[in-house]
Amino acid sequence: MRSAYSVHGRLRMRAKLFVFLACLVLMPLILHAETSDRTVASERELQLPEQPQVSYVVDESSRLTLNLVRRLPSHEWQALGDGPISFGYDTRPYWFRIDIPASTAPRVLQLEYPLLDQVDLYLIDEYGEQSHVRIGDRQAYDQRPMSGDGFAVPINSLSAQTLWMRIETSSSLRAPVLIWDANSFFEAQVERYAAIGLYFGVLLCMIVYNLFGYVVTRESSFFSYSMYVIFTGLLMAALSGFGFQFIWPNWLWLQERAIVFFGGLAFVFASFFITQLFQLHRHSLGWHRGLVALGIVAGFIAIGSTLLPYAVTIRWLLPFAVCACAYVIAIGVAMWVRGVQHAQIFTLAWFLFMVSVMFNSLAYLGLLDGQFIQRYAIMIGSGIEVLLLSWVVTLMYSSERSEKLKLQDEALKNALAAQEAQRILNEELEERVQLRTHELELASASLQKANAELERKSNEDGLTKLYNRRYFDTRLQQEFNRARRQQLPLSLILIDIDNFKSFNDEHGHQVGDEVLIRFGERLQQVATRAADLVCRYGGEEFAVILPDTALADATLVAERFWRAIGEQAFASDAGQLAITASFGVASIQPAMNNASELVTAADQALYKAKHSGRNKIILAPSL
Ligand code: GH3
Ligand code: MG
Ligand code: MG
Repeated sequence: MRSAYSVHGRLRMRAKLFVFLACLVLMPLILHAETSDRTVASERELQLPEQPQVSYVVDESSRLTLNLVRRLPSHEWQALGDGPISFGYDTRPYWFRIDIPASTAPRVLQLEYPLLDQVDLYLIDEYGEQSHVRIGDRQAYDQRPMSGDGFAVPINSLSAQTLWMRIETSSSLRAPVLIWDANSFFEAQVERYAAIGLYFGVLLCMIVYNLFGYVVTRESSFFSYSMYVIFTGLLMAALSGFGFQFIWPNWLWLQERAIVFFGGLAFVFASFFITQLFQLHRHSLGWHRGLVALGIVAGFIAIGSTLLPYAVTIRWLLPFAVCACAYVIAIGVAMWVRGVQHAQIFTLAWFLFMVSVMFNSLAYLGLLDGQFIQRYAIMIGSGIEVLLLSWVVTLMYSSERSEKLKLQDEALKNALAAQEAQRILNEELEERVQLRTHELELASASLQKANAELERKSNEDGLTKLYNRRYFDTRLQQEFNRARRQQLPLSLILIDIDNFKSFNDEHGHQVGDEVLIRFGERLQQVATRAADLVCRYGGEEFAVILPDTALADATLVAERFWRAIGEQAFASDAGQLAITASFGVASIQPAMNNASELVTAADQALYKAKHSGRNKIILAPSL
């Protein structure tokens, strides 16, 4: 599903690219066809310019004047042949001689190259009448006899004339000379302005569009790209003479340096923009450093152009431009090979620009025929380049943005998943803690229970389940202390079963045990007050602690015990068996210091009961 989508997307992308390129390539071709058609159709009214015969002489010593030149013997002059005047970078003055035939119509002499520094035109007619015009971009545009592409001078003479022309320039020495019918010249100018207007219109749109892009998105590649287009536009304006004609007509200082200055700056911003576009430092440090180095060199060339003569700096710019363009195309290919998105469009853009420059150069060298190519190839190439690059910038931005959004989305999903996992973990943890707490509580409860049981067991008599002797001792001391503190009475009854030894002997030990159990139960039934405590004192002896009970009341309790024992026999395996018991009752006395003295007193009373016939209650004496 996913791959199908991306294949589909790629196909759509290629289709778009194809349509776009087709439009870009067809547009100038249609325009060209249109102009050629018009040229053929209207040849009756519109005459093509004449390319006059030119001969020249080089002024090696820079000393020739018009008079000296006019007197030179004819063998000193060389014929130029069919090609235009083109001598490359040569700062020596050149003299040219051109014969201009007579005509009734007004004409225009055009030097179709806008960058010449100083041109002196001397027109001398058959009658020796002489006129001098000085043109060149060392003087303000306004001082020209007329405006037009390159340099234009009106010729209004009915007779044949000879033109003596001296050119001295630090730019490339090129001066295609054309003699136009004035009307045709102006028509051609209109066409040129339309083409130039279209070109600069496209550039202006790109600049405004990308600056808006920058303002809205704050994406720096939009800005550096806009700057690149601004300086490319200014460079083209300088190269075409359009800048001097319309933008800086009186600024000679700039006109002198414009090409190198703007060319340098254009590449400085190109290097910024390419770095930002591809995030070059991330993909390859090597390519990045190379581009930065070229950007710095371009900056130095731009600065140099303001300090050094044009003739020097243009010699830096041209080889630099060739290397830099080749390097940029190499970057494009390298990124393409690395699979960087849209790198192919980028490469294509620069490649088309290079091709247009090559076409232009070939046309200038005369290897390719055509005014059209010579005039417009670079503009078409750079126009297409600028459009394609703008497209790349936007595509890169949008794919980067969608990538970012995708990452953000993923990060959000991950965060939510992590949160959910944390929540589940917390819940599990809480559950486990609860379970553990519950288990601990249970364990602690059963431990408490076991402890309580243990304590109960440790205080209990195994046979009768009454409190044992150990517990009796502890409680009696406590009750004794409390009674002392609160000035309350406390009584103790000691009970001993009579003749139990012989009872055992008669009925057996097991029956004896049974009777002991029943005896205890009966004592417990009779001791009704909650505070009363019945204990097994040892063997067949029992003790009852009676807190807050004076001797008289204790005696009543002892009597209740005595009756309960005597009234009813005890059930056992051997049947109903009657027994009796003797009682010793004592109460706390002021003289007593501890609980054992109370026990002793009760015990002595019990002893007396035994020795005075058993089955009776004896009270300890109160002191
Ligand atoms: P007296 O009337 O003087 O108290 O005579 P006696 O036989 O009861 O007293 P003695 O102290 O001489 O004997 C106590 C007897 O109680 C000895 C023992 O056989 C019996 N006896 C003590 N403890 C137990 C017991 O746990 N079970 C049984 N079956 N008999 C016990
Ligand atoms: Mg005894
Ligand atoms: Mg006894």
